[in-house]
Amino acid sequence: MADVSLTGVSPGELAKQREYTQRVRAILEAQFPEGAPRAFVHTYGCQGNVADSERLKGQLSAMGYTFTDEKEQADLVLFNTCAVREHAQDRVFGNVGALKPVKERRRHMKIVLCGCMMQQPHVAERIRRSYPFVDLVFGTFAVHRLPELLYQTLRGGKRVFETTETAGEIVEGLPVYRDGDFKAWLPIMYGCNNFCTYCVVPYVRGRERSRRPEAVIAEAEELIESGAKEITLLGQNVNSYGRNCDFGVDFPELLRRINALEGDFKIRFMTSHPKDCTKELLDAMAACEKAARHLHLPFQSGSSRVLRAMNRGYTREEYLELIAYAKKVMPDLSLTSDVIVGFPGETYEEFKETLSLIEEVKFTSLFTFIFSPREGTKAMRMDDPVSAAEKSKWFAELLKTQESIAAERCASMVGQAYEVLVEGVTKENDGRLTGRTAGNVNIDFPGDPALIGNYVNVRVTEAKNWILSGEISRKP
Ligand code: SAM
Ligand code: SF4
Repeated sequence: MADVSLTGVSPGELAKQREYTQRVRAILEAQFPEGAPRAFVHTYGCQGNVADSERLKGQLSAMGYTFTDEKEQADLVLFNTCAVREHAQDRVFGNVGALKPVKERRRHMKIVLCGCMMQQPHVAERIRRSYPFVDLVFGTFAVHRLPELLYQTLRGGKRVFETTETAGEIVEGLPVYRDGDFKAWLPIMYGCNNFCTYCVVPYVRGRERSRRPEAVIAEAEELIESGAKEITLLGQNVNSYGRNCDFGVDFPELLRRINALEGDFKIRFMTSHPKDCTKELLDAMAACEKAARHLHLPFQSGSSRVLRAMNRGYTREEYLELIAYAKKVMPDLSLTSDVIVGFPGETYEEFKETLSLIEEVKFTSLFTFIFSPREGTKAMRMDDPVSAAEKSKWFAELLKTQESIAAERCASMVGQAYEVLVEGVTKENDGRLTGRTAGNVNIDFPGDPALIGNYVNVRVTEAKNWILSGEISRKP
């Protein structure tokens, strides 16, 4: 558990929340004299949500909760939700519905829903109307107010809804309960100003705001001190870190400052937006020996017309030029990306431009999505003549193309040695370990579980499609 106490939301507000923390603790001690109450926390969506959940768990822990993986045994269930695609949203509604019989058996159990989905008024309203067994709902702007809101829920016996949008201050000083021992998430900024026409994030996360560099560095130091071997800097658009701020540190500079910290660790970051990814950043990355040779740079579409309709702010040619520069300054760079199939009005010819782009760049892996209309976005109101069945066919074609690219890439790694962070034992638990290269490729190899959380050099001996096997070797 870490406690980063720097600048942030007003000290008075934080003191008030600490006061509520103690009040909730007292209620829980009286309610559970036999032992600490248990919380089940589940996170949907991106790493930004995972980082928020670490702060929610930090606060729950300070209030006296321990954690369980069994909903049926929990005294509090918290879902931190995602609104990016309809499918993710439907899954949340399904899982909330499934809690009804659990709550009937455990009447004292509190059900808490928060995160991006809850920041949408129509969703909060649906929960209010159709899920009366949900006790507390709050949006992304109220993460730090969990003690106060939970206190109201426990004391008042009434349902509590808090989904108002605030100016979205940066909150420092929250306790953090980290899930990983050696892999850490470090938010450097929140929100998004880009309004890509398909995306709900700017509506549910508010405008961009960057943490002060001193706060980020202090948290990085603390993570390194506590044994983190991989620190991932998080933001919807990390490349615009520091923009419109008074502290004069941009993302390349922040990267250099973290790189200069003592310790045996690697730095990753996500997500980079191509329109703000500068050659200076790529140069800084190349010069920082602790920056993993991995760049996640979502392109979304290979067609300049579709990119314009998406409001992405770059063309196919500009994207490819950036990639060429990145490969020039970092020849061993591994590239990954996000892509959307079936944006409203996309034609098959335009989709083929996406295929040709991935064939040209040869990404290590891709996160692939079929366009999902989101309430309140511009794309939701655009004409979308292509059928879902047709889009699924295109999607299958995309997957097939990427699979053969990844297989080819993995095959080219056989015989080479790579530095690998050992992450765990294989699912089969067959005396083999799993890990990831700096380029973010999974590999398994025989080894002692005592190596988990350390870097080892692994020589690739076999590539089965896009899965690598290897053996520990001396030097890469
Ligand atoms: N900020 C990041 C960026 O600009 O690349 C991405 C954040 S978003 C949470 C993650 C990915 O979800 C996007 O890159 C996009 O590919 C996908 N996505 C977002 N909205 C979507 C939608 N309405 N339908 C399908 N995919 C979507
Ligand atoms: Fe969404 Fe675009 Fe912002 Fe990424 S940059 S979060 S895709 S609006």
